[in-house]
Amino acid sequence: MKTVKPDLSQGLLSELQCPGCMEYMLPPIETCMNGHNICSKCKPKLKECPACRKPLLNMRNFALENLTRKIDYPCTNRKFGCKETHSVDFIIDHQVTCVYAPFTCPFLKHNKCAWIDILKNLKNHLLECHSQDVREQNGETNLIINPESKELRGYKVMFAYNEMFYIYIQRRATNYYIAVTYVGKPENASKYGYKISFKKSESIESITVCHVSRSVNEELNKIFESGNCFKLPYDLLKRYVTCDGQLRYKLEIFEVSPVR
Ligand SMILES: [Zn+2]
Ligand SMILES: [Zn+2]
Ligand SMILES: [Zn+2]
Ligand SMILES: [Zn+2]
Repeated sequence: MKTVKPDLSQGLLSELQCPGCMEYMLPPIETCMNGHNICSKCKPKLKECPACRKPLLNMRNFALENLTRKIDYPCTNRKFGCKETHSVDFIIDHQVTCVYAPFTCPFLKHNKCAWIDILKNLKNHLLECHSQDVREQNGETNLIINPESKELRGYKVMFAYNEMFYIYIQRRATNYYIAVTYVGKPENASKYGYKISFKKSESIESITVCHVSRSVNEELNKIFESGNCFKLPYDLLKRYVTCDGQLRYKLEIFEVSPVR
């Protein structure tokens, strides 16, 4: 909703450029003792004003903050091709789900893969470079944990229902954790659930656990600690280790039917 002329709007935007990160500032906007403005993301990281080296104050520039209501902000992913602009109240919401947001490869930490691009191109990259860790769901998928490995952290990628999911496996102390996260708009994560089952033979009772998938935007530690994922003590799972020393399980992602 623009209420000022385009050239004025452009002029205002350049006034809003933060001298720290060069992005357009959103409220709260604070100042240095000479009146230079600084964004609230940069301020805690800086000891002095990047424009004049004078101390930063705990003082907001309300006049400038009020002017931000009169313009539309271009998306921070404009350099990756996003052409959307939104008012100060909606730009953050847009950027969180912007399809042009740069995406890093899920194997960045695990395999030091430095791929970065828009989400749309991720599937091709995964199929080309990480095919051994990528599965296309077709009924239940058989997966293996090697309980012997000391630092057990595993990543898998699963495609199901034309969507993408990351599967994280981790051993912490005496417990095994498995979390499935949905890659896409956070509000869609709860539309999918997953079923994990351990089974060995008819003589040993099988274990099946179901959970709702979480958003990939959530911090993994928080998912593990909140209990919104598979968590069982290794003592319990030990009896499913096969004679070749592997812990096999089946995973199936399913659509959660909406509550009527
Ligand atoms: Zn900044
Ligand atoms: Zn200054
Ligand atoms: Zn965007
Ligand atoms: Zn990669």
